[in-house]
Amino acid sequence: MTKLEELKERLGVVSDLNGAASVLGWDQQTYMPPGGAAARAEQLATLGRLAHEALISDQVGELLEGAAAEVAGSGADSDESCLLRVVRRDYEKARKVPPALVAEIARATSLGMEIWVRARKESHFPSFQPALQRILDLHRDLAQCLGFEESPYDALLDQYEPGMKKSELVRIFSELKSGLVPLVQSISERLDRVDDAVLRRHYSEKAQWEFGVDVARRLGYDFQRGRQDKSVHPFTTSFSISDVRITTRVDERFLPTALFGTLHECGHALYEQGVSQNLERTPLAGGASLGIHESQSRLWENVVGRSRNFWRFFFPRLQQAFLQSLQDVSLESFYRSINRVEPSLIRVEADEVTYNLHILLRFELEGNLLEGRLALADLPEAWNAGMKESLGIAPPDDAQGVLQDVHWSNGLIGYFPTYSLGNLLSVQLFEKARSVIPSLEAQIDQGNFGPLLAWLRENVHQHGRKFLPLPLVERATGGPLQAAPYLHYLRDKYTEIYF
Ligand code: ZN
Repeated sequence: MTKLEELKERLGVVSDLNGAASVLGWDQQTYMPPGGAAARAEQLATLGRLAHEALISDQVGELLEGAAAEVAGSGADSDESCLLRVVRRDYEKARKVPPALVAEIARATSLGMEIWVRARKESHFPSFQPALQRILDLHRDLAQCLGFEESPYDALLDQYEPGMKKSELVRIFSELKSGLVPLVQSISERLDRVDDAVLRRHYSEKAQWEFGVDVARRLGYDFQRGRQDKSVHPFTTSFSISDVRITTRVDERFLPTALFGTLHECGHALYEQGVSQNLERTPLAGGASLGIHESQSRLWENVVGRSRNFWRFFFPRLQQAFLQSLQDVSLESFYRSINRVEPSLIRVEADEVTYNLHILLRFELEGNLLEGRLALADLPEAWNAGMKESLGIAPPDDAQGVLQDVHWSNGLIGYFPTYSLGNLLSVQLFEKARSVIPSLEAQIDQGNFGPLLAWLRENVHQHGRKFLPLPLVERATGGPLQAAPYLHYLRDKYTEIYF
């Protein structure tokens, strides 16, 4: 056996443990009875610990050395060279963090989550503040262990968006913000131009489910290698390249919940199903980063799923499925209703135009907290002021303000920006695909998503984690990550709808 083969066998074990943990996690959120929670937490902790130990063992270090000599002749982009590069990175990072700190963070966040749930219910930030302070302090320690050059934020961001720097995000996001704020302001003066009451009529759960499954299938989601179930919070998870699951939730009084939720998760799942089979059972069998992942979900949900082209094909079918609620509705008024914009307090309910302003606020605040430029006691006030400045509205209480997201209580600091990166990139990728496939929109008019999916497979999906996010963007689009294409897309689309 060569060292490379031996290394792959070891990594295969890590991948099996992670896959098994994913099955347990999926079950926890779909079918597990509430009584199973305590035992499930133990089972997940055990699998996580075994996978971590298997990855950071000295033996992996030795095998990495040995395998490096064996693949020295193969090109930098070969599966083998990329595997060694990625595993070395994972290995070195994982070894930098003392197990005691990992355990302390696990404890503080599981406690923090509980306290956050209560604090949000009571809409009282001060009762969450000590727990959040503890989580923040531990993440400063984590950043010190991982190491950074410019900001401790970089070390945390790197866990979700490898290779990205805070300073780079500040540059891209300030351009984004200076374009978004005036656009939101001018749309805010014309809110009555679009009405979405039609989406709040009655839509039966069964018909919504069937319609969603039909859409997923037509987009290219392979039900032989996946399935859809229900969960409170929709998600995508993969146990292997050949078993990628999605979940959705259905609201009979609000059509977009299941419809766009399914499109979103389907975008994540198409990515995971599209990774090259050669990468199966290795650490490369997954998305390049959270930002790249979100670019896939947003591309299908928004760029495709909220376009006229998409609904030229699907609207007559939707009308057939919901005759009573939609027979008096035109394609045009349906298109406008699903693209309604309104500044609102809650991020997860925000439209395409206002969404990123929610993220930019969180990014700014968590950066300031981590770098010690904002005291936790001043966070609610800073939050409210930021909302007022960028969206023109202020939360009436903490529950609809600073306490609304689960992320910080869960220790996910440096995670929020990946949502906006995904949005920016969704447009850059779609426009690149359109430039090389001139008939792309005509194909979508016909319900033919094959050419778009094939382009994404070729340029993004098949590579899995082989390349870092920014080099992957360069390869796929021929240029760097930018805010301008996204701003153009929004201005074109919403000027036509609102002006
Ligand atoms: Zn997503």
